[in-house]
Amino acid sequence: MVMNCRELKKILVTMLESEHIQDAEFDVKCMLEQVSNLSWHEIFAQQKNFSSRKIQELFTMAKRRISGEPLQYILGEWEFYGMRLFVGTGVLIPRADTEILIDTVLDLLKNKNNLKILDLCTGSGCIALALKKYLVNAEITGIDISPEALRYANQNKNYHALTINFMLGDVLDNAIAEKFENIDLIISNPPYLTSQEMADLQKEVSYEPVSALAGGLDGLDFYQNITGIWKNRLKQDGLLIYEIGCQQAEAVAEILKINDFKNIQVIQDLENRNRVVLGFKN
Ligand code: GLN
Repeated sequence: MVMNCRELKKILVTMLESEHIQDAEFDVKCMLEQVSNLSWHEIFAQQKNFSSRKIQELFTMAKRRISGEPLQYILGEWEFYGMRLFVGTGVLIPRADTEILIDTVLDLLKNKNNLKILDLCTGSGCIALALKKYLVNAEITGIDISPEALRYANQNKNYHALTINFMLGDVLDNAIAEKFENIDLIISNPPYLTSQEMADLQKEVSYEPVSALAGGLDGLDFYQNITGIWKNRLKQDGLLIYEIGCQQAEAVAEILKINDFKNIQVIQDLENRNRVVLGFKN
């Protein structure tokens, strides 16, 4: 049995919508693209037929989506900064909001060569990989406490044939920090959700690792500790840049101030929410 793409799409969208999945049409298009290895435009223009094996695969994907699993885990990949990245259970899904960190760094550090960069809590490696793509002669280390996350980071590194040192370790461990010196840039998207936000997680987000999300009672644990532990690993005028939750700008800017950083700035994301705090080492 084969089924035409339009007919199949309609059935799958109806299936998801009847279970109140938002953006059902978008999700189904992504699934069809994934199993056919074609873009939706190609599928549609060719009036592609799907074999029973592919139909079976698509129904399995739709059922996973209905159970609340994030689309990105079902697809096994997601795009970040124009790069295809592999993701799945055990690693935080790269968010579009995080791209603003990359824009900011590339803008601040353009024309600088041979930078030494640390990406703390690297997860899928999305930040490290995007930076390495554009800062080609930078020496980049990405550190994460989760072996599962680092498996994805290494897979992504190999896929893009980029040279990055991914290292298993706890960024809150002084002994790890002491291995590094004269760093030009420390960048981090640490866990920053508050206990209340952790209690109210959206179904999809609850599939992602708690260790990548939970930042303590007020969500500030990692900013406090990372800043204290790592500040002296930076060169003079070295840059510390964090992704933050949109309510955390003032508190994180204060942490940087207390730790003697200068030229502290808060930067907004595409929806005008505070998303980045940065400062330079005195
Ligand atoms: N931005 C993520 C969210 O909104 C949180 C990621 C993090 O804690 N670094 O779910």
